[in-house]
Amino acid sequence: RFPAQAPRSGRSRLLVLAGPTAVGKGTVAAHIRENHPEIHLSVSATTRPPRPGEVDGVHYFFVDDAEFDRLIAEDALLEHAVVHNRSRYGTPRAPIDHALSEGKTVLLEIDLQGARQVRAAEPSATLIFLLPPSWDELVHRLVGRGTENEEERARRLRTAKVELAAQSEFDYRIVNEDVATAAREVVELSEATAR
Ligand code: 5GP
Repeated sequence: RFPAQAPRSGRSRLLVLAGPTAVGKGTVAAHIRENHPEIHLSVSATTRPPRPGEVDGVHYFFVDDAEFDRLIAEDALLEHAVVHNRSRYGTPRAPIDHALSEGKTVLLEIDLQGARQVRAAEPSATLIFLLPPSWDELVHRLVGRGTENEEERARRLRTAKVELAAQSEFDYRIVNEDVATAAREVVELSEATAR
């Protein structure tokens, strides 16, 4: 399902967007997907089931555990991790290599564990940390989206505390006050690093 391997080039055009739960990484990435076709947004493989409205191959490649194992065994993933103690997520390598070889900027919206693996595999990658305007606002957003129960929310907030402490490992920090502005800042960074 993935295109064949392409030559490596322009690794600094590999951008990673990470940040704590509920900070709005997915929304910022979706905004970029819709408004910036010049940026290749990586489509991850995941073992979690699709949510209503999610399309296989667009939002994720929805795979089962056996296929995920096969992707790892074939070294087809640039990074992979279990996220929120539940499902597995990974970044297919070949589409990224292909887009970079075409001179495109590539954006990965992944978790902190994945960002660290990309840094190790591709030291020239640009790491961007998305921050909430405040801790209270992060809690507010997590409660407001209503997709997690009380116990899950508490667990994610504990993880978020740990993740926020890791922001110093990143090259750039962007505060997600509003989605359009944060997306614009990511795009501007991508243009600056491509030079
Ligand atoms: P969701 O299931 O809500 O779409 O995503 C849950 C979390 O998985 C988010 O924090 C997202 O950044 C992370 N994630 C999505 N794709 C990948 C991936 O390919 N690798 C890693 N490490 N994390 C991912």
